[in-house]
Amino acid sequence: MMLLNPGPVNVSDRVRQALLRQDICHRESEFSELLAGIQSKLLKAFVPGAEADYVAVLITGSGTSAVEAAVLSSLPHGKRMLVLNNGVYGERMSQMVGIHRLGASELKFEWTVTPDPERLRLALRQHPEVHAVAMVHHETTTGLINPVKAIAEVVDSQNRVFILDAVSALGGEPLDIAGNHIYMVGGTAGKCIQGFPGVSFVLLRRGFLERMRAYPKRSWYLHLTHYVNDQGQGIIPFTPAVQVYYAFDEALNELLEEGVAKRIQRYKKMATLIRERMAKLGMKAVLTPDRQSNTITAYYLPEGLSYQTLHDQLKAQGYVIYAGQGNLENKIFRVANMGALTEAQFTAFLDAVERVCASA
Ligand SMILES: *Cc1c(COP(=O)(O)O)cnc(C)c1O
Repeated sequence: MMLLNPGPVNVSDRVRQALLRQDICHRESEFSELLAGIQSKLLKAFVPGAEADYVAVLITGSGTSAVEAAVLSSLPHGKRMLVLNNGVYGERMSQMVGIHRLGASELKFEWTVTPDPERLRLALRQHPEVHAVAMVHHETTTGLINPVKAIAEVVDSQNRVFILDAVSALGGEPLDIAGNHIYMVGGTAGKCIQGFPGVSFVLLRRGFLERMRAYPKRSWYLHLTHYVNDQGQGIIPFTPAVQVYYAFDEALNELLEEGVAKRIQRYKKMATLIRERMAKLGMKAVLTPDRQSNTITAYYLPEGLSYQTLHDQLKAQGYVIYAGQGNLENKIFRVANMGALTEAQFTAFLDAVERVCASA
C-alpha cells in the first residue's frame, strides 16, 4: 500500500529490518547507548552547529505527546500561553492549554491565512501574563507553511518563549531552530524522518531547560524535565517502545546519509510532480503556491466526485489518500508525499488518479 497520508509513512526495508534487533532491557547500557545515539543524531540533523545549546528529549507516544509535553512544561505559576491558531493542530494546542485554563486570548486566523506578526506584537504588549507563544510550523490541515522567522522575531523582541509544533515539518521544510531562538520544537519519528509512529521528541534549548525545572508539574507522563538529568542527558522514566527506537535510530542514519537539505529537495521535487500533473487534470489547489509546503497538497474535490468514491477507487489500486478535517471535511482531499517513495511510484499514483477522474 502506498501511503499518501501525512504519517504514518512508508518506510524503507532497512528501517523495517531494524525492528528485529535483539530484545533489550531499557535499564541496561545497550538502551542508554541507543538513546544517546538517537539524541545526538537528532541534534546533528536539526540544530547543526548549535548541538551544545539544545537537548533532545524522547517520549514514547505519537507526535501529539511531544507537543503536549512542550506545552504543559513551559509555563511558570500564574503565567499563560498564547496560541496562534490557523488549523486543526493550532486548535489542538489551544485545547491543551484550555484544559488547564492556561490559555490567553488565542489569535485565530482563517485556515488558509498565515498569522499576522503585528497582531501578535500588539497582543503581547497587551498581555503581560503571556509567557509563551505557540505556533504550528506546517499546518497539516491544508499544507500551509506558517512564517516562523517573522513570528520568532516578534516573540524574541517581546522576551517571550517560542514553542513550535514542527511535527509534520522536520525533515520536510527548512527550519533554523537555533538562529530563530526557538526554545521548544516538537517532532515525531513517523513523518518526514521516515521512521515508525510511536516515538516523538522535543528539541529543547538548554538555558530554558534550567528555568523549566522550577515550573509546576502538570502531567505525570509528559513533564519534560523528568526526562533529562542534570547533565542534560536522556533518562527513561517509563518503558520505551524499544523496537520503535531501533527503527528511529536507523531512520536517522538514513536521513543523515541523504542529508536534511537533500531530503527536503526530494520532497519538494515530488510535490512539484504531483502539482503539475494535478493541474493538468484540472484539480484546484486550496492554497496558492507561495503558501504550500513541500509535503502536502490539498485539493478541492472535483465536481461530481465524492471523497468516498475517489478514496475507495484509489485504495482498490493500492493508494491511500487523506480526507479533509473539520469544516473542510467532504470539500477537499489531501495528498501527502512523505516517506520512502520513488518518483516512479508517484507517477503510477498520478496515472491512477487520472483513470479515476476519467471514469467519474
Ligand atoms: C501529525 C501532526 C501532529 C501529531 O499527530 P499524532 O497523530 O499525535 O502523531 C501534530 N501536529 C501536526 C502539525 C501534525 O501534522
